[in-house]
Amino acid sequence: MTEVKKIAVIAGDGIGPEVVAEAEKVLRRTEEVFGYRFKTEHTLFGGIAIDQKGTPLPEETLAVCKSADAVLLGAVGGPKWDNNPKELRPETGLLGIRKALGLFSNLRPAVVFDCLKDASTLKPEVLEGTDLIVVRELTGGIYFGDKFRRDGIQGQEAVDTCVYNVAEVERIVRQAFEIAQKRRKKLASVDKANVLETSRLWREVVNRVAPEYPDVELEHVLVDNCAMQLLRRPSSFDVIVTENMFGDILSDEAAMLTGSIGMLASASLGEGSFGLYEPVHGSAPDIAGQGLANPIATILSTALMLRMTFGYADAADAIEAAVAEVLDAGHRTSDIAVDKSKAISTTEMGNLIVAAI
Ligand code: ATP
Ligand code: MG
Repeated sequence: MTEVKKIAVIAGDGIGPEVVAEAEKVLRRTEEVFGYRFKTEHTLFGGIAIDQKGTPLPEETLAVCKSADAVLLGAVGGPKWDNNPKELRPETGLLGIRKALGLFSNLRPAVVFDCLKDASTLKPEVLEGTDLIVVRELTGGIYFGDKFRRDGIQGQEAVDTCVYNVAEVERIVRQAFEIAQKRRKKLASVDKANVLETSRLWREVVNRVAPEYPDVELEHVLVDNCAMQLLRRPSSFDVIVTENMFGDILSDEAAMLTGSIGMLASASLGEGSFGLYEPVHGSAPDIAGQGLANPIATILSTALMLRMTFGYADAADAIEAAVAEVLDAGHRTSDIAVDKSKAISTTEMGNLIVAAI
């Protein structure tokens, strides 16, 4: 009998519930077609949890996530909570959940769908065949180092410190090598080893573990050069691994290759197979509740979950192929439509993808 996989579902705020509903339909469809079995459990997180439970990350939510094999998250936040004190902000909940679940890497695939090449600002011939994934370290580096002000010789100074230890670098680098092994076997390690000590350590660790992955072709790329090459030869990248701040910047740059934020999936991973999967976009309060949201980012995040946490490559392939098929047939939500008057709704898009699986 097929094992039942448990998925904690966090619909969240804004368009979160709308896009998650479509992803759940897709999950049900993969049960029918492939015989897999998923038990979903909805739990409160973010703004809605602040309103109903007085905290963005209630204990019971964390317990549901910890007892699950994976988490599917819509989006959290919105103007209603933006001016709350720190502990009552949805974003505080996001940092808390990553930490509590030990999620130290963030993966963002950037795939250019042939039929959407025109939606990008780059030339179609440059984009052709682009299918890359950015693996960003999520819990170290300058974002988490000591920050302070002090009086300097010429007045006030500000200091941010960037710290990485060998273990932190090694675990994410190994993860990236393993991801590359399952793809086109190319890894670009991005650093600034010509000036930064943390980058020199990063490069040492990469070079030390690389011989254990002899089938993966490794290149070291300086971050400024990588920013340029992403626009010049995006299709030559397979897996890019980098530290927190470089990854933050490069993953947004890579995202823009594909045209719309409504198309981009992400995964946050720790040790083992557990992962949290969510669209790259936010809660989009400006379009919430109107059926305008593109559910594809969340549906592709679900495909990523099936592939990476559960190893259900057949179902993941089928979902990705269904998305491509529906787009090829010309169906568009308004964010990716050239002629907005012909745009379809969130549920119409979801139903078409379900039917194509
Ligand atoms: P956050 O801080 O949570 O990232 P944000 O306001 O910075 O939120 P988004 O919520 O992602 O960013 O919204 C940015 C813009 O993209 C908005 O105009 C929004 O309507 C649009 N957008 C975001 N997601 C989608 C989607 N799935 N479909 C269509 N449009 C979207
Ligand atoms: Mg934002």
